[in-house]
Amino acid sequence: MKDYYKNMEDSWVEFVSKNIRAQAYSGEEKATSEVFMQAMEELGIEHFRDECGNVVGVIRGEGDGPNVLLTGHMDVVPEGSIDAWSPYSPFEPKVEDGKLYGRGISDMLAGLTSEFFAFMEIKKLVDAGAKISGDLIFAAVVYEEPAESIGTIYLMEHTLPEHGLDVDLCYLGEPSDGNLAIGQRGKIELVIEVYGKVAHSSAPQEGINAVEKALPIMDAIMHNFGSEPLVHEMGKTSMVITDVVVTPGQKYSCVPDYCEITVDQRYVPPMTIEDTVSRVQKFLDEQKKKDPELRAVVHPRMNKRTCYTGYEAEAAKQHPAWVTGKDNEYVELTYRTLKELGQDVEKIYWQFGTDGSVICGKYNIPTIGYSGAMMSQAHQAQEHVEIDRILDCIEGYTAVLCRLYGLDMSE
Ligand SMILES: [Zn+2]
Repeated sequence: MKDYYKNMEDSWVEFVSKNIRAQAYSGEEKATSEVFMQAMEELGIEHFRDECGNVVGVIRGEGDGPNVLLTGHMDVVPEGSIDAWSPYSPFEPKVEDGKLYGRGISDMLAGLTSEFFAFMEIKKLVDAGAKISGDLIFAAVVYEEPAESIGTIYLMEHTLPEHGLDVDLCYLGEPSDGNLAIGQRGKIELVIEVYGKVAHSSAPQEGINAVEKALPIMDAIMHNFGSEPLVHEMGKTSMVITDVVVTPGQKYSCVPDYCEITVDQRYVPPMTIEDTVSRVQKFLDEQKKKDPELRAVVHPRMNKRTCYTGYEAEAAKQHPAWVTGKDNEYVELTYRTLKELGQDVEKIYWQFGTDGSVICGKYNIPTIGYSGAMMSQAHQAQEHVEIDRILDCIEGYTAVLCRLYGLDMSE
């Protein structure tokens, strides 16, 4: 790492510490958003907040691109048991032995602020007279952690088009151990509702027991509908029942007339979100032919969320699978540039969900994950990063952007 980046340590720690202290649970990202807004205001960067609370900055380019989006989420998961954090404190950042501790630092304040620091470096070069050939956009989004991508869906559907912004390439600063993440398995939470007929449990023959009707469905799910899992380089499909709710339930002496089965389905291409629903539907249709009494429906889990701006959205609990080809020109350029800096980098697939599902999975924009934060630290107690790996990452992002725009980063 060049001294120039090593010397950013204090300013980076100070900046990201404000984000840790902001305690930005999903739906409570306002204070974190202010940190980015204020910095962009001070630097004279075009910036705005959208209706759902995403914060966007733009350095306008001229020429034939590429238009690059640097993005990540501001929200953090709850800290869990405070005892498990001792002697650290989740929202009081602490530096010790070259590490910075705090909730959300790995997932993903370190990656997000690495992107932002590189973004500010490009602004300095542009202010000094450099020209960039495409727009450089920074977007810190809300509401990623509940796995519904409300912030990124809003960004892609409304905010960027309404500001005349196109994206050719996206970098996502979720933790990657300094590697390049080029895809992930898809995830969807399916709900199967099975209906019966309520009756007194002393006379079960008078009712239709929803649990009994649900049993063959659960059995089929546990056996993946009799087929082998689909295998891809990024992993394989899996399906598991994560919850069963029965009503009226144990409080009453009733034959239950309702059973709700929750299924976590992970899938890989070429399977799609639609396929995950339709294969359950197909099984239900076949089952209904055998058992005319069966009444059951399947649908993705929908949740209603309210952003800190008051914006409300209903979103499916899903992350479509996505993959950016290993030999994609931008993956190659990024890989080569980081190798030239001496970074130890590999192309990997993420095992967890990210907003790449929207940007690449839905909008087909090549997406590359890169952060010096450790994947193993995400959502953990005593969450931390190695500060030098993050400074490497700021250098990496800056070098890649300079390469993409043909700028000289030698000073
Ligand atoms: Zn994350």
